[in-house]
Amino acid sequence: MARNETPAEKLDFIRQIVAEDRRTGKWDGRVITRFPPEPNGYLHIGHAKSICLNFGIAAEFGGRCHLRFDDTNPTKEEAEYVESIQQDVRWLGWDWGEHLYFGSDYFQQMYDWAVQLIQAGKAYVCDLTAEQTRDYRGTLTEPGRESPWRHRSIEENLDLFERMKNGEFPDGSRTLRAKIDMAHPNLNLRDPVMYRILHAAHHRTGDAWCIYPMYDWAHGLEDSIEGITHSICTLEFENHRPLYDWFLDALGVHHPQQIEFARLNLTYTVMSKRKLLRLVQEGHVRGWDDPRMPTISGMRRRGYSPEAIREFCRVIGVNKFNSTVDVQLLEHCLRQDLNKTSPRVMAVLRPLKVVIENYPDGQVEELEAVNNPEDPSAGTRKVPFSRELYIEQDDFMEEPPKKFYRLAPGREVRLRYAYFVTCTDVVKDADGRIVELRCTYDPATRGGDAPDGRKVKATLHWVSAEHAVDAEVRLYEHLFTKENPEEVEEGRDFTANLNPDSLQVLTGCKAEPSLARAKPLERFQFERLGYFCVDPDTAPGRVVFNRTVTLRDTWAKVRQKDDQ
Ligand code: ATP
Ligand code: MG
Repeated sequence: MARNETPAEKLDFIRQIVAEDRRTGKWDGRVITRFPPEPNGYLHIGHAKSICLNFGIAAEFGGRCHLRFDDTNPTKEEAEYVESIQQDVRWLGWDWGEHLYFGSDYFQQMYDWAVQLIQAGKAYVCDLTAEQTRDYRGTLTEPGRESPWRHRSIEENLDLFERMKNGEFPDGSRTLRAKIDMAHPNLNLRDPVMYRILHAAHHRTGDAWCIYPMYDWAHGLEDSIEGITHSICTLEFENHRPLYDWFLDALGVHHPQQIEFARLNLTYTVMSKRKLLRLVQEGHVRGWDDPRMPTISGMRRRGYSPEAIREFCRVIGVNKFNSTVDVQLLEHCLRQDLNKTSPRVMAVLRPLKVVIENYPDGQVEELEAVNNPEDPSAGTRKVPFSRELYIEQDDFMEEPPKKFYRLAPGREVRLRYAYFVTCTDVVKDADGRIVELRCTYDPATRGGDAPDGRKVKATLHWVSAEHAVDAEVRLYEHLFTKENPEEVEEGRDFTANLNPDSLQVLTGCKAEPSLARAKPLERFQFERLGYFCVDPDTAPGRVVFNRTVTLRDTWAKVRQKDDQ
């Protein structure tokens, strides 16, 4: 159902604006938004917030959302990023249809418009160096000074600008600037630079251009050309809005409304592409799609579902104030989704061998196991049970303390979907390490219940040794040890807060045989252990899992504490 058909629902401030514009017919009912990434890195969860906002609004109000690559800066952009960005937006569940655009396709139109501003006396070629330009700009408390080149004739400006374009001048020797007001209280309006000279090859236009437009000049023009109605951006651009408006008014072209919202920040996470690139380049992670990265591709590999990310974006909403969201909320949304959708399986991360002494040698029973108690339609599967099994090392203690209810010498527990077993003996190696347990089982408890009504205090997961699939399991912690990774001593940077234990690799894990057929990116709940996802490193005979998240929902706990 379209958003504007549900007046009872509380709309965020941006949707309120859009709904009001639809009501008053401001844009003849059109809603055209855009998501405009610069292709200089992979998308992260912050981008997901912007994607869900822009594509979401378009979908809810019967409009459309463009995917536009803001590729006006030739030096940092690569085709690899253009590919990955499209893949990630699609994976998140959004569709731009035929509306895929590149800012660089508008270079000629931008150039023509710049000529138009020169002709109107509203732009000039300036010969100040970058440093001088900064110097002349003034400060928040002091007005700037006019460039000595500000009063060149229109003819001279036209000639020089054309020669800038033709490549006659070296990099940095001249700029084209808007003639606005060097005393303006908003520094962005003190004759901002529109073009710089840069003899650099561009990933799409090659060597065709050696002047490149600055962001503030280019962005509004891109919006205008595409007929955008609502140009939604993050708060840093609030004091750029007067310039956005000035350029479009000076040209007299279609003029979208710029609306700013607060960007997403997450605890234990860095979110700028520049910093994420450093993590990749300096080898702190294994790549852009390392499961510890807050990138969409990293989260996908970790086992996040698009539904969980979209739900998170819905829950956090949009507002006008910068804040930092607790990463536990993201994990909470993830667990909610995985709990509904993940098939349950059994796997043992740190195996301890168990021999059931009274179980017939060579006998195998196929026991019925429930695939998902949250979803009866998921059905059941067969899990083999035999004389030799593995259980989790920490499900056994030789001398259990008071509150340890799991297996111990002489104690009976339930093996999930199987039988009650009692530990009768502990086998140790020469160094005194426990290598094997001897147990007996009660055949009357098949399926996991005792006909005489006797109870046990623990249910353990297990796998049959002979049938188990060997697996590698990668466990992850936060990539940073501090809630705010930017909090560092003088002279250091965020990499000082990297968590040395963010990755732990377990080999020799044992999984139930159904997992031999698991495909990369398939998600499971390992009973009692958490949610896991098959890593693309998986190869025949070597199944690799990433732990997506543990079962314990700390967010729910935090909320309970808050409610008390
Ligand atoms: P970064 O600071 O990570 O490099 P950026 O803003 O330079 O990000 P762009 O590729 O220019 O990255 O961003 C594309 C869109 O995504 C922009 O509209 C931007 O406002 C939005 N965006 C980027 N980071 C966030 C964030 N943390 N929260 C919400 N929106 C974001
Ligand atoms: Mg940017």
